[in-house]
Amino acid sequence: MSYIPIIDEASCIGQGDCMELVPAVFQVDDCARVIGTGPDELILAAAHECPVEAISIVDSETGEQVYP
Ligand code: SF4
Repeated sequence: MSYIPIIDEASCIGQGDCMELVPAVFQVDDCARVIGTGPDELILAAAHECPVEAISIVDSETGEQVYP
């Protein structure tokens, strides 16, 4: 669990796919926000599912951006 999602609030349209997929990590009101941690695979899947590519991911161990 080293992946950290970052929400681009200017891009997020708040329709909630990320929260449906990983509710422990994403909460969506008007915009998504990160509320916890979760399996790297699910965080990556949520980023792929986001229709507007508002989720980027950084590996907290290496500091590298892993998505997009
Ligand atoms: S899936 Fe993307 S657009 Fe939808 S709420 Fe999450 S971050 Fe926002």
